[in-house]
Amino acid sequence: MVSFRSKAAQDLHRKLKWLIFFRALFGVVLLGSILVPIMRPDMELHLAGRALDYLLLISLGILVLSVVYVIVLPWIGRLMLFAYIQVGIDTFLVTLIIFVTGSFSSIFAFMYLVVIVYATMVTYRSGGMVIATLCCIQYGLMIDLEYYGIIHPLGYEADFLSAGYDWPYIIYKLLLTIVACYAVATLSGFLSEQERSAKRDLWAMEDQMKRMERLAAVGEMAAGLAHEIKNPLASLTGSIQMMQDQLDYDPEQERLMQIVMREADRLSTLVTDFLRFAKPGPGNAEVIRLDGVVSEVVGLFASDPRYQSEIEVKTDLAAGLHVKIDPEHLRQVLWNLLYNAAEALEDRGEIEVKVYPGRKNHACISITDNGPGMDEQTLSTVFDPFFSTKSGGTGLGLSIVQQVVGAHGGLVDIDSTPDRGTTVTIRLRRHPS
Ligand code: ADP
Ligand code: MG
Repeated sequence: MVSFRSKAAQDLHRKLKWLIFFRALFGVVLLGSILVPIMRPDMELHLAGRALDYLLLISLGILVLSVVYVIVLPWIGRLMLFAYIQVGIDTFLVTLIIFVTGSFSSIFAFMYLVVIVYATMVTYRSGGMVIATLCCIQYGLMIDLEYYGIIHPLGYEADFLSAGYDWPYIIYKLLLTIVACYAVATLSGFLSEQERSAKRDLWAMEDQMKRMERLAAVGEMAAGLAHEIKNPLASLTGSIQMMQDQLDYDPEQERLMQIVMREADRLSTLVTDFLRFAKPGPGNAEVIRLDGVVSEVVGLFASDPRYQSEIEVKTDLAAGLHVKIDPEHLRQVLWNLLYNAAEALEDRGEIEVKVYPGRKNHACISITDNGPGMDEQTLSTVFDPFFSTKSGGTGLGLSIVQQVVGAHGGLVDIDSTPDRGTTVTIRLRRHPS
């Protein structure tokens, strides 16, 4: 996706801000709920020893942490790592809260689940699993150490746990907590992945809409201009032809006229081609087998003498995917992308072409090269007509790809990492048959 990465980063940034806000809010509420019984000593609280003092410290710690997070957030480059650190610290804080409020008998064990839920919202499925594991390890470790009398819950005797409960019950509760943690992580992981893919689709559509709008404006103007070139060109060739018939034969003049005719012809095909792609329309759409057309174009490309040097072309084409598109248009799209990949590689490297079924009844084609890739800045303008970083480039290649694919109701995504390479993915609606 063109600016997919920056959008994902923005999204994460927004989520982190909310996370910091809610954590601070939680700190304030905790602080408030501690201050009430401290100010009214007549209130009977079933908390052991100096639990309140420790809770006070923890809530102050949370508030201090929140302030630190707010201050460093604008300076953080690796937001995902920052998110992991935050929720990791949160699990530790929860363990502390559980420990000072009665440990094994604490009613706050459920707070692990809360951390897991928001951890998956920020770090997605894999993050959720990591955090769930972290919670289980901490809880298990705490209970274990207590059982063997190495640490003592506040205000209790050394062998409180082993004396107060039988171990099958302890194991039972431990297992229950672990199962609950992973169950919640799985469920919220599933939901967060769905949210992520829905968001990606939405961003891809938004980007595409914007690009199509820009193209439409420029395309309209350029198409008008191309039209204006066609007419004088036609009269030019017509006149030359008439002169050819009327003048006496002179080999030198004949040669010059041939040149004029040939160049005028070339110009005319160029303009016709351009018009076809500036206003592609649905063309002569027909149902085609994707792997067939792709392997045909890749075969032609691989035998193109210009790119036979050190470039290796690999394919992985799933069979049986049909789409409805003008095959000529599709060939043009593939050519443009393959040429871009080859030009980026500068005679050495690898291109991989894949055809595979995508989500939501899509058929996908991806073209990956391990070339120099593009930075964020270039990536945001590659689809602009006439944008090119090449000395002889027209800058129309990707605009045409965008225009053609968009006209057939498909989507174009680019994912590129500097020094790693570029993947362009085309998603088209599958046609049954
Ligand atoms: P042109 O190829 O004529 O420059 P395109 O629209 O095809 O025009 O591409 C626009 C620009 O996008 C290129 O000039 C190049 O900077 C960048 N680009 C396109 N494909 C790739 C790729 N596979 N790797 C790196 N840069 C690319
Ligand atoms: Mg190009």
